Amino acid sequence: MTKIEIPPDHPRRISLETREKIIDGHESHVVATAGLLAHGRGEAFDYLIGERTTEQAELAMQAAVAALLSAKHPVISVNGNACSLVPEALVELSEVCKAPLEINLFYYRKEREDAIRDALIDAGAKVVLGTQDRPSMNIPELSSNRRKVDVEGIGAADVVLVPLEDGDRTEALKAIGKFVITIDLNPMSRTAVYSDITIIDNIVRALPRMAEQAHVMKKIPKDELHQIVRSFNNSENIATAVRIIITHLERRVKDIVELRTKTNIGVSEK
Ligand code: ATP
Ligand code: MG
Repeated sequence: MTKIEIPPDHPRRISLETREKIIDGHESHVVATAGLLAHGRGEAFDYLIGERTTEQAELAMQAAVAALLSAKHPVISVNGNACSLVPEALVELSEVCKAPLEINLFYYRKEREDAIRDALIDAGAKVVLGTQDRPSMNIPELSSNRRKVDVEGIGAADVVLVPLEDGDRTEALKAIGKFVITIDLNPMSRTAVYSDITIIDNIVRALPRMAEQAHVMKKIPKDELHQIVRSFNNSENIATAVRIIITHLERRVKDIVELRTKTNIGVSEK
């Protein structure tokens, strides 16, 4: 529920509405306090890429959906922020790709696990893996609570989508041979760098788009899907994303100077 009235023409409307979702999620125990700060870091990078889905991100999403659809056992890892922002899209993507949802929390509290499970079920999920009552196993080389994974979920998965992930866990998942896909607005985070496919976009835009793509791409034969995944180059993808930020910033500098000149801002500085 949005508590503040955001004018429809407000230039930061979507960003503010997204913030309200995170705040609501915090109040209902879905989002950890540290999740509020992680969201702020994401917002800053969204600003740098121009708060839009780039063509490059669209290509990364296509490769990611191809990997999920052609996997033997794909799984989608869910944390509090992802759940508060895009619960319906998580459920939809999970259904189309036959990739179960697994809760995995950096800041574990039973209350949070229950709140996230309930939110996913409210959004239409039939099964939620990763809860404490489920059989679990440990990923080696990870000391936090998050080393625990569901035996029938990430434990058995070949392809894992880990949106808004922490670098340590991404490295640990890679170390045990998983094909890792992430959604992360920061192209320089360890997660972005270590993943096999990095979607550099806001999860609020990316996940609904991926669900849409999955509906169309599920008709593509498996060998063609494998080919889409093989021809995706994540080093180029990340490098392009950083260049997009640089170009965007250069354009912004021009716009700012032009605006200030046109409106005579800064005349008194001389
Ligand atoms: P890493 O551990 O991978 O080096 P980090 O420590 O900088 O990254 P974390 O807090 O561990 O960051 O992970 C959160 C990541 O999620 C950040 O890179 C942040 O940019 C990203 N993020 C936050 N909100 C969103 C969002 N709405 N959409 C996409 N990415 C987001
Ligand atoms: Mg981190």
